[in-house]
Amino acid sequence: MTILTRVGTGEQHGSRVPALPGRALWLAAYVLASLLGRIVVVGPDHVGLVWPAAGVGLAWLASSRRGLLTLDVALMSAATMAVLAVTEGGTARTILSLSVVAQTLLALWLLHRLVPGIWGTGGRVPFTRLRQFGMILVSVILAALVTSVLRWLVGAVVLDNEDLGMLIGRFGRQASAMATIGVFGLLLGGWLTERRDRGLPVLGSITRPEVLHLVGIEVVTALIFWGFWRNPEIPTTYILSLTVVWAALRSSPVVTATHCLLTGIVTVWMTIEGHGPIATVNAANTRALLAQLFVVVLMVTGMTISLIRRQISDTIRSLEQSEAALGLRAHELDMVMSHLDDGVAIIEETGRVVHANLALRTAFGTKPLNTADRISEPGEEGSPLYYPDGRIVGAEGNPYVRALSGESVDAEEFHHPEEDGSVRVLEISAFQVPNGAGAPRRVMVVVRDVTTATTRRESLVSFAGTVAHDLNNPLSVIDGWAEALEEDLTASDSSDAARALPMVQHIRGGVEQARGFISALLAHSVSRDQALECEPVSLRNLVKHIAGTRDRPRNGGEIVTGDLLDAWADRMLLRQVLDNLIGNAFKYVAPGTTPRVLIEAEDLGDGWAKVMVRDNGIGVPLLQRERVFESFHRATEAYQGTGLGLAICKRIIQRHGGTIRVTANPDGVGSCFEFTLPMTPEAFQRSAAGAAGGSP
Ligand code: ADP
Repeated sequence: MTILTRVGTGEQHGSRVPALPGRALWLAAYVLASLLGRIVVVGPDHVGLVWPAAGVGLAWLASSRRGLLTLDVALMSAATMAVLAVTEGGTARTILSLSVVAQTLLALWLLHRLVPGIWGTGGRVPFTRLRQFGMILVSVILAALVTSVLRWLVGAVVLDNEDLGMLIGRFGRQASAMATIGVFGLLLGGWLTERRDRGLPVLGSITRPEVLHLVGIEVVTALIFWGFWRNPEIPTTYILSLTVVWAALRSSPVVTATHCLLTGIVTVWMTIEGHGPIATVNAANTRALLAQLFVVVLMVTGMTISLIRRQISDTIRSLEQSEAALGLRAHELDMVMSHLDDGVAIIEETGRVVHANLALRTAFGTKPLNTADRISEPGEEGSPLYYPDGRIVGAEGNPYVRALSGESVDAEEFHHPEEDGSVRVLEISAFQVPNGAGAPRRVMVVVRDVTTATTRRESLVSFAGTVAHDLNNPLSVIDGWAEALEEDLTASDSSDAARALPMVQHIRGGVEQARGFISALLAHSVSRDQALECEPVSLRNLVKHIAGTRDRPRNGGEIVTGDLLDAWADRMLLRQVLDNLIGNAFKYVAPGTTPRVLIEAEDLGDGWAKVMVRDNGIGVPLLQRERVFESFHRATEAYQGTGLGLAICKRIIQRHGGTIRVTANPDGVGSCFEFTLPMTPEAFQRSAAGAAGGSP
């Protein structure tokens, strides 16, 4: 073990010194293994029965780093020939013995291709997967087969006495030595390197129970061998495989391989010596082959069980790690959810509440939690929900039910009566969340309590409406007097009058601006509060009417209409939308450009139409395209305005159940405002706005 530690790891990635002691140790081990092979020779040609050197050689060259490979190959070749020559191998056999070195190089080449990245093929870890072990076996068997056949063919020509039995014998001993000793070498080399890299003591990881088991296994194995020795006629070799299974189930691959190898060595040695059940076979050649085959079977059995066991425990460990990580994530998510102000619940289609956060539970207590899954079905106990117009929310309007049917409910307003008689205003969103194929569908419901914000906003809007209304009167008085003054001053010839005139005109300009702002504020509150009075509206007539009543802008301006349709809408409010959009199109143009607006509509089917208002203006920057629809938001200060026009448009379109957005004008310069409108009362009724009580 110590030898391999130094040689196996130090050599592969060692210092610049050619690591001569390491080479010497490998050489000694190789010569010893070769001599062992030559001890058990049969026949007049002194053919060996076993060739452990094939396995030792494979481990040696696997441990060799690039710069030293040639030296190692040379040393190995010299050692092989020397051993053959000394042990009366004959000149021809001595030279042909170099085939063993070629075989090792071929095996190594195959290993590099089939099992890259493990110790011996460029990596610093042992093989751990069953597939890798399989590929190692394929490599060594292929290498042994190819070289044995070639060696046999050359031998048949040169020596003239090679028979098929010799080919099988050679292939058997070469392949089995590499599949046992070679595999063991690869495993041990990788194991030691990995431990050294990770700074672990060589034997430190072996636990007490593991040691006790090993002792038990070896004692039982020794007893079985003793039984063989005493009663060679009883065919009980297979019992040894039980000890291998025992070792494989209790210990690591490297310990299992050690046990298999030791058991194999003793079996082969006993068989050659004529002890044990395999020794009852008469022909020495066959006997030795059978014993080696038996060792290979032991090794394959042991390694297979041990590697599968390791793979299973690796999988379990990584599963446990993922489970722990998932647990942590879930905990984090729980913390986030519990600190959210919005109530969040995940509910299955069966009605089971999978998760409900603290905010939801605090807001609704435990009983309404049971109803949160239904967010009040009619006839169910628990507090029901109402639309803002006071109608109760039925099953088909229920956000949870709508989300289950695939709809996405986006922050819609509902009212929730409280026990003390007050009403809570809720903004509810609901959408389906993925839950794996075949599993019950799940819906996430997000409930935001906007009671305070709504109360504040409503009082602000009504305050703004009142103020706007009340301010109009004094403004009219100021404007009236200013106009009279302006006329007087214009008529007068005095120099004082000439100085005062521009001041009065400034006053009138200011009044005009204040009026514009006030009428925008009024329109804003109207767009929100005025009940819808829908009727069939010809978009073409409406546009014509707007064009007829609008003052032509100073920079010219042209309204072009394409295909237009009839909508089902509130005429006054829709007029306000188109008027705002046309007004903006005339206003937001680069200096020197004559504004041009193109208005057309498209039938979307299902009773809905899309209206497009395109202009050749300055366009709305990409990042502002959502925000320009917010109240008081302005994308540019270079033009005068209140920032209310588009917010009014949005509110009106939404109240008709439609949506509005702005994109770049597909014709090139400018913007394209697009909104949808119902064309029939049924389409309007089917929309969420219609269902929420917009008057037909
Ligand atoms: P106002 O025009 O009074 O500022 P609006 O709500 O109508 O308010 O518009 C909001 C902002 O959107 C405007 O300040 C302007 O920057 C941008 N905008 C609106 N319409 C257009 C348009 N047709 N072309 C370019 N920008 C526009």
